[in-house]
Amino acid sequence: MDNNQLEKYIEHGISGTPQIKGQEKKMWLGEFRERIIFALTQEQIKRKEALKVVKDKINSGNIDKIILREDISEVIKENYMDIAQKAQKNYKEIHKNSTSGEIALVLASEEAVNEKEVLLEELPILPEKFYKAKSNKLCKKHMKELQDTAPLFVSEFEEIGLFDKLGGAKCAVCVQNQGTVNE
Ligand SMILES: [Zn+2]
Repeated sequence: MDNNQLEKYIEHGISGTPQIKGQEKKMWLGEFRERIIFALTQEQIKRKEALKVVKDKINSGNIDKIILREDISEVIKENYMDIAQKAQKNYKEIHKNSTSGEIALVLASEEAVNEKEVLLEELPILPEKFYKAKSNKLCKKHMKELQDTAPLFVSEFEEIGLFDKLGGAKCAVCVQNQGTVNE
């Protein structure tokens, strides 16, 4: 190997490969792709359903940290901070200028996990009337409807019990159609 070849090799080593990794890391909020377990796009993170999906994921696999893009709204970020705290995972934010692309949240490991599918093409959808619910209390009928149409979200709601009724609790879906509260 003469000097020229050696130089080329070093040059490639310094400005070639690392640059590619640099781009990769920008896309995955500062992490290597091989360490990513799950990710949400900036469109997906705006939906409430995303929260449920992350809540279900956070304790699975080797997730060590949750990273959000700093430009995401405070209200949304607080929800994820809360999830991270409860699951005792690290929470980190990264400035948008240090990223590129559509990814707004990643769940990552400290080591390579080589997870193949880390992005959902579509989030599971919570039907509108449940999405708009102002509380998590549902009557028997609407609990059943939720079980039938969007079982993933059943754990986010509660059927109104006798004690709730005594306290005046009303079904969060029924109250949307005023006057037709189901018992
Ligand atoms: Zn109801």
